[in-house]
Amino acid sequence: MIQAVRGMNDILPGDTPYWQRLEAEIRGVLAQYGYREIRFPIVEKTELFKRSIGEVTDIVEKEMYTFEDRNGDSLTLRPEGTACCVRAGIQHSLLSNQQVQRLWYMGPMFRHERPQKGRYRQFHQVGVETFGMSGPDLDAELILMSARLWQRLGLDGLVLQINSLGTAEARAVYREKLVAYLNQHREQLDADSLRRLESNPLRILDSKNPQMRALVAAAPKLSEYLDDESREHFATLCGLLDAAGLRYTINPCLVRGLDYYSRTVFEWVTDRLGAQGTVCAGGRFDVLVEQLGGKPAPAAGFAIGLERLLALVRDQLQPQYLPHAYLVLVGQAAQAQGLVLAERLRDAQPGLRLVTHCGGGSFKSQFKRADKSGAQVALVLGENEVAQGTVGLKYLRENREQEIVSQGVLAEHLMGALTSSSIAGK
Ligand code: ATP
Ligand code: MG
Repeated sequence: MIQAVRGMNDILPGDTPYWQRLEAEIRGVLAQYGYREIRFPIVEKTELFKRSIGEVTDIVEKEMYTFEDRNGDSLTLRPEGTACCVRAGIQHSLLSNQQVQRLWYMGPMFRHERPQKGRYRQFHQVGVETFGMSGPDLDAELILMSARLWQRLGLDGLVLQINSLGTAEARAVYREKLVAYLNQHREQLDADSLRRLESNPLRILDSKNPQMRALVAAAPKLSEYLDDESREHFATLCGLLDAAGLRYTINPCLVRGLDYYSRTVFEWVTDRLGAQGTVCAGGRFDVLVEQLGGKPAPAAGFAIGLERLLALVRDQLQPQYLPHAYLVLVGQAAQAQGLVLAERLRDAQPGLRLVTHCGGGSFKSQFKRADKSGAQVALVLGENEVAQGTVGLKYLRENREQEIVSQGVLAEHLMGALTSSSIAGK
């Protein structure tokens, strides 16, 4: 028996209603802010990710699914969406001439990581990317939009962490101070950090090793080396969040795992998912567009890990997916008439979820199926009903008398009978 690839999950019919509901809520919030969807391929040239995410990052060093296609080109399954979005934006001239874009995408991402709860090799993100807006007002909008989503999903308890990475120049100055400090404490560095010390020392601040925590906490702070403009930008952002009544924690060690960020970075974290506690992460990447060959354009965005978000809100989502009605058809004549009747019902009530029994069988076996389907009512069409132009209506979840309804008024009658899960509604 061939199994799915480790870390890549099937999403089964029992789960897809929850996914659809979650996705619909997210789309709803994005629409409230005027964001528009963009779709790009799941495979890109490897170079795109190397040049944007950075050579010395977890993703590029060890997580990418890279392969040679039949032409000998090096291609990679997208590990994230920002680089793809910027590539598409440049290629189709969406970003030049100071254009303002508010975009979003949703779909699978691929990283070769060690699979565990909240960490998969194929996982799903919804990402938001904006272009052409350089101010902290946009950063605040992104954060408020994510906060609205949590609210809409009934999710509380997420903590917002923010930080500023300043400009590349400011980080270069800070980098020297940090390396000097870490060199003084070389004996306390773990293997990963020793390696990072030469190549990407800021990433050491992000270390998930608890034994590194004290060392990192006492390290010089990037905030002390910020350029004036970045400092001002960050202070304004904090003011805007205060004015909106949004609580946040300034985390000076928040540096994010990708190279393209500058100035604002943020994460929404929870302690309810163990080590995989970051649900949403984002920030500003003002130099990326130019770095990938476009005209310089400020940019900022975030990405949400949908598996982690769903794990937090699943119980609150109440997707309506069970059929309202199950049509039981006994006998040849009923089979022919039943299909037509079902079409008429669907014409009259587009919101009606009606399953027609296929494949014949005894009344008893069909009725069992009706019950198992989760439907609220069984509609019964047998020889008698066909002859009389009626349908039997049996309530499967309520203790109510069976009814005989004339086929001509059945659609209308069902509307009344199914009030508890209104057809017109969800
Ligand atoms: P982590 O520190 O957990 O590895 P990251 O910094 O690599 O996260 P990003 O690249 O910022 O993650 O991706 C944004 C979000 O996507 C994460 O906050 C998380 O919710 C989700 N995510 C990232 N990698 C995975 C994965 N392998 N499986 C499931 N979700 C993931
Ligand atoms: Mg990661």
